[in-house]
Amino acid sequence: MSIDIQKIRNDFPVLSQEIYNGKPLVYLDNAATTQRPVQVEDLVASYYNQGTGNIHRASHYLADKCTAAYEATRDRICEFLNAQKREEIILTKGTTDSVNLVAYSFGERFVEAGDEVIVSEMEHHSNIVPWQLMCQRRGATLKMLPMNDAGELLVDQLDELITDKTKIISVTYISNVLGTVNPVKEIIAKAHAKNVAVMIDAAQAVQHLEVDVQDLDCDFLAFSGHKIYGPTGVGALYGKEKWLNEMPPYQGGGEMIDYVKFDGSTFNVLPYKFEAGTPNIIGVIGLGEAIKYVQEIGLQAIYDYELELLKYTEEQLRKVEGIRIIGEAQNKASVISFLHDKAHPYDLGMLLDKLGIAIRTGRHCADPIADHYGITGTARASVAFYNTFEEIDLFIKAMNRVVGMF
Ligand code: PLP
Repeated sequence: MSIDIQKIRNDFPVLSQEIYNGKPLVYLDNAATTQRPVQVEDLVASYYNQGTGNIHRASHYLADKCTAAYEATRDRICEFLNAQKREEIILTKGTTDSVNLVAYSFGERFVEAGDEVIVSEMEHHSNIVPWQLMCQRRGATLKMLPMNDAGELLVDQLDELITDKTKIISVTYISNVLGTVNPVKEIIAKAHAKNVAVMIDAAQAVQHLEVDVQDLDCDFLAFSGHKIYGPTGVGALYGKEKWLNEMPPYQGGGEMIDYVKFDGSTFNVLPYKFEAGTPNIIGVIGLGEAIKYVQEIGLQAIYDYELELLKYTEEQLRKVEGIRIIGEAQNKASVISFLHDKAHPYDLGMLLDKLGIAIRTGRHCADPIADHYGITGTARASVAFYNTFEEIDLFIKAMNRVVGMF
């Protein structure tokens, strides 16, 4: 199955706008956040225009309608990730929120002084700092799985790194800086052989390839709505029921309550135990629509198209004088980080922007990666299925013009 790029472009009118007096916008910052199709925008607008009811508790039309749509998103995510049960899907504010939830709650229940947690060298800060905070709280040690200069994890080192003190490993599926697709299934198998749980940061994965939590056998998996063509401020956490049942609540109040007494409260069942307070109801409904949109195109078709686009972009970029690509893993998706021998990434980003090209520059919330390469940051282009080969040509033309100034 291939993708119908013309139909897709029609679904994303924001991509056809001109900026700075007639420059066509070329949006290549999809790893930071994605645009939303009209299907999502329209549905979200309809929930604002026609009224909102708070979910779960009220007994009136608007509340019922919103509750049904909110819970339908949970069902859709359950199917999307191939989770066993809807109770294993917790709706959160996004990947960062999901990682914090697990780091806190798993930590409270399962991590003792002297225990160990492992993350990799290529993690986003959101998959490092929550574990650091938890380790500080619990008196545990955070260990790091290193990568080589190509940007591939040295998975064999896990054999040494995992000890009988290791409680959990948290690792990204796809690096937001290097584009590396990590062998997470292998990592999970190695960890499980030693009874260690594994969390997958799928913030850069679910929008690019099929993710099947049962096939991976991961214990937890997190993603964000705004990186999969949905609204900001929403996302999900998948967790195996056996863990979630034993973990204490992360936050208190609202839907997570069963009964409150001053001498102690009892808590709701899964998944509500982890959903305190009124959530981003309409955002969650929009996320369901975004996932439906992606499912209709098909993840395999998206993967195939994006891989062609990525290869083409890399090939063309390598022809630009003075370019060095950071991240040369065998298995990559969507993301290309690069440097120029004379132009600073910030200057590249700023000058490209004036030509209508949106890329990202900096350390991409992953300081340890910059430190690994001894660099201050990179320029990063990241593609999505709605980008075209013509847009890549415009990007390369702009690159040639910009680097010619240095
Ligand atoms: N993990 C990875 C790999 C990411 O790329 C990002 C965002 O860029 C995050 C986590 C954090 O996602 P969010 O800010 O949506 O919580």
